[in-house]
Amino acid sequence: MHILLMGPPGAGKGTQAAKLVEEFKIPHISTGDMFRAAVKNQTELGKKAKACMDQGKLVPDDVTIGIVKERLSQDDCQKGFILDGFPRTVEQAKALDKIVAELGLKLTGALNIDVPAKELIERAVGRRICKKCGETYHIRFKVPAKDGICDICGGELYQRADDSEETMKNRLAVYDEQTKPLIKYYKDAGIYKQVDGRQSMDKVYSDVVAVLRG
Ligand SMILES: [Zn+2]
Repeated sequence: MHILLMGPPGAGKGTQAAKLVEEFKIPHISTGDMFRAAVKNQTELGKKAKACMDQGKLVPDDVTIGIVKERLSQDDCQKGFILDGFPRTVEQAKALDKIVAELGLKLTGALNIDVPAKELIERAVGRRICKKCGETYHIRFKVPAKDGICDICGGELYQRADDSEETMKNRLAVYDEQTKPLIKYYKDAGIYKQVDGRQSMDKVYSDVVAVLRG
């Protein structure tokens, strides 16, 4: 099972990936983790990536693609992987196809957890987090017993700056612009799959497993 995980910010990709890792015993490979590992292991590409990041520059595509290739070449990826955060462009998707072919592997699915923008904004804007223990609440979907107070530890609840309507709208606009061409790309390749991310976490997961097993 060699799959890509797509989905807008806040769609619950992380939760779904964690469940897939546990059930299928395959690695979850996120771009952030890959970069950190390459930098830590001081690979040539890791050094290049670090130099860019230290200067506050975007890491160029050839470096990113090289790091993905290094990671996917490792033994634990032979029987499967869940790739998360890459590719972000059609150019990167083409590069990934090449890498996967060179490794003698085959992408089996590009899975999109679809949640409409309106719902993602509602989820984000209503989210409240405990200052003390980090527990997450929601003003509509997970209401604390006492307004503004954590049920678990009595800490004060706050709203993250990232969870504002404006920030979410901007992030979703960027995501839309990047992802729409990828959806078409993977539809054309015949491996695009989509689940309805508006359902409960468990229902989303059972749908994910069903579409991946085809
Ligand atoms: Zn708390």
